Amino acid sequence: MDIAFDRQHLWHPYTSLSDPTKTYPVVGANGVRIQLADGSQLIDAMSSWWCCIHGYNHPVLNQAVTDQLQHMSHVMFGGLTHEPAIKLGQQLVAMTDPSLDAVFFADSGSVAVEVAMKMAAQYCFEQGLTKKHRFLTFAKGYHGDTFGAMSVCDPVTGMHHKFSHLLHQHLFISSPRCGFDQAWEDHCMDEFKQALAEHHESIIAVIFEPIVQGAGGMNFYSPEYLRQVRALCDEYQVLLIFDEIATGFARTGKMFAYEHAAVAPDILCLGKSLTGGYMTLSAVLCNRMVADGIGTHFMHGPTFMANPLACAVALASTQLLVNSDWQQRVSAIASSLQQGLQDLSAHPAVKDVRVLGAIGVVELHQTINWAAIQERMVAKGVWIRPFMNLIYMMPPLIIEAAEIDHITEALATTLQELL
Ligand code: PMP
Repeated sequence: MDIAFDRQHLWHPYTSLSDPTKTYPVVGANGVRIQLADGSQLIDAMSSWWCCIHGYNHPVLNQAVTDQLQHMSHVMFGGLTHEPAIKLGQQLVAMTDPSLDAVFFADSGSVAVEVAMKMAAQYCFEQGLTKKHRFLTFAKGYHGDTFGAMSVCDPVTGMHHKFSHLLHQHLFISSPRCGFDQAWEDHCMDEFKQALAEHHESIIAVIFEPIVQGAGGMNFYSPEYLRQVRALCDEYQVLLIFDEIATGFARTGKMFAYEHAAVAPDILCLGKSLTGGYMTLSAVLCNRMVADGIGTHFMHGPTFMANPLACAVALASTQLLVNSDWQQRVSAIASSLQQGLQDLSAHPAVKDVRVLGAIGVVELHQTINWAAIQERMVAKGVWIRPFMNLIYMMPPLIIEAAEIDHITEALATTLQELL
């Protein structure tokens, strides 16, 4: 493998070409294991950034792609349609809240967020709500790297300062404070209530990640917060967008995180594990009020919209998930993570350890040299990708207890070695 070319010419995520962070050449992946070119096997604790819920090289998903290839890999969706898109649309409508029954297929998570923001904006425009010109969102949020998505990401972790002259200015409030298992305290809602009361006339929609704020801070918060947000959005007639690109498809212990609160958004963004991590595809669902209110033309139509290969594998992946014992799997992963990580709370460098569903987080007091931690973990046969002061794990749902023990033991040793 020409690693020198890779280092000199290929950008990797969130790094530079002048001083790139280390990359590890991969030659294959199977089940929960990634195989490196040097022959070593790594247990994947990242599901390739939340995606590979069924693990790699899954026979059912492989078959779905192979079967679809015999018919067509792609046709434009403008004026044409096909079975994989229709069946996937039916599947998504059936498995999400009954109010969500219109589906827009897009290319990636970031584009889904752009589409959701545009849907909300066009809805308001068509309703004559012309004073509405901004979104309300939270600190520690993350919604993607395109300009619209970036404008609603946490201003610090999203490094807004480099682009602030180009970004539309939205309203930010503090991230939800009341933890997932904490007793609810009414003051947790004060800032949101005040923001909506003061600014609802200018707000197109509230957009955020329900229950788990992911790449902006791995913050888990109370379902009561979602319930009250929904009620207040109804009261002030402000649209509600949930970004479930990371949390969707069982990761938090519910099929969708909003189910923890038994509320539904007006617009829902899905992505990542939609295709079981096989290829890029996202979907934006909305309710009839939004769909009908948008009027005759919704001005968005990506070239690869509803790509048949992606839809076919997404259909196979969602069916595989729905027909599996995912609840038991996620709670077994939660217990193993809990057990394996709990002793780390006593480590002086550790600020907090938290687990929700198939997500485990070790928050440190200080920002870390994550590349050094990653290197030690690779040497111990584990793949993780920490950021800032956060080491987090969200393994494929097919992982076994012994493999989670391997991950948590490797992490405990690494922290002893380095911190
Ligand atoms: N929203 C959330 C909550 C995400 O976690 C991500 C990706 N990390 C995105 C949006 C953007 O998705 P993509 O990288 O596919 O554009």
